[in-house]
Amino acid sequence: MKVAERIKKIPPYLFAQIDKKIAELRKKGIDVISLGVGDPDLPTPPNIIDALEKAVRDPECHKYPDYEGSLDFRKAVATYYKRRFNVDLDPESEVMALIGSKEGIAHIFFAFIDPGDYALIPDPAYPVYKTATLFAGGIPYTMPLLKENNFLPDFSSIDEEIAKKAKLMFLCYPNNPTAAVADEKFFEEAVEFAKTYDIIICHDSAYAEVTFDGYKAPSLLSVKGAKDIGVEFGSLSKPYRMTGWRLGYAVGNKDIISALGIIKTNVDSGQFTAIQRAGIEALLGPQDSIDEMLKIFKKRRDLVIETLREVGLEVEPPKGTFYVWVPVPEGYTSSSFAEMLIEKAAVVVTPGNAYGDRGEGYVRISLTTPDDRLKEAMRRIKESLSF
Ligand SMILES: *Cc1c(COP(=O)(O)O)cnc(C)c1O
Repeated sequence: MKVAERIKKIPPYLFAQIDKKIAELRKKGIDVISLGVGDPDLPTPPNIIDALEKAVRDPECHKYPDYEGSLDFRKAVATYYKRRFNVDLDPESEVMALIGSKEGIAHIFFAFIDPGDYALIPDPAYPVYKTATLFAGGIPYTMPLLKENNFLPDFSSIDEEIAKKAKLMFLCYPNNPTAAVADEKFFEEAVEFAKTYDIIICHDSAYAEVTFDGYKAPSLLSVKGAKDIGVEFGSLSKPYRMTGWRLGYAVGNKDIISALGIIKTNVDSGQFTAIQRAGIEALLGPQDSIDEMLKIFKKRRDLVIETLREVGLEVEPPKGTFYVWVPVPEGYTSSSFAEMLIEKAAVVVTPGNAYGDRGEGYVRISLTTPDDRLKEAMRRIKESLSF
């Protein structure tokens, strides 16, 4: 059997070594705590589950769904955008339902990247941007996210020849994995750059609602002119703890949405209508469960920051996402630090270089582990670093 070249281009799985270690320790009966995955431990709010239960019994939901999402779901997304960002969206042409935002993020490259085309991709980043570029035959051009630039790309450092050839650019704020946030001024710069070089902006806003300390994340689409060249990918996974439900959306420029739709209609047949109805309840129903969740994450964030300080690692409390991006102590690499924590503390963190070369020197700690387990993990990390 010979797999396609595009499979061979995908970078090797960086967690293989770590997964092996975890398996070894667990086999020995050691209690391993994982702070690796970004999947909320809290359950989906009950009003959303009730809505699904009701919808699932309605025969109208048992048929093939609408490709672009039910009009009611798309209207709910538009209502959320108006309420939250004061952005007007036409539910018919500027909103599309996705089977989780990852689905749309991966497919958009097939709508705009031809073999040999450049895509501007942040580094470090959610790995899908790069792998989808490669699947489409494109060339990822990395925009380094550096601490000295607050983990924002520096558009002026992008090679002009590449900028002219680039078809699309991905951004993500609040950012996974660095937990950095962006203000509207940054999006204005991005739009100006993109318009100058005729580049599409795709903004991954999976963490728009996961923010702290009074900070509210802006939408790319709030910026004047953004809708001429941009789309935003949203997800119900993180704000409503619906990662397993697979529901997201793309909003913004209608021509971009329509091109994405052409790819999608030829690959999938849309998300289960009953799940979309539950999504309507999530977006339009009571929102207090988000605040409750944020209180829990904030307490965990502060505990992690305090522990890191105690072992001499100064990290600013992040204003967004449920991650902490931690510079490794001197003498360690991302991998050697992650391995040390597994061996000495039986705690799993994600090595930063799993998100790109510029992630080297960092590890990512996820706050999606129950309080008592996180506390125990912090106790063990402290112990492993203090002798
Ligand atoms: C979790 C996540 C997503 C994907 O979420 P879905 O469950 O597919 O909607 C997209 N982007 C980033 C950066 C994420 O962390």
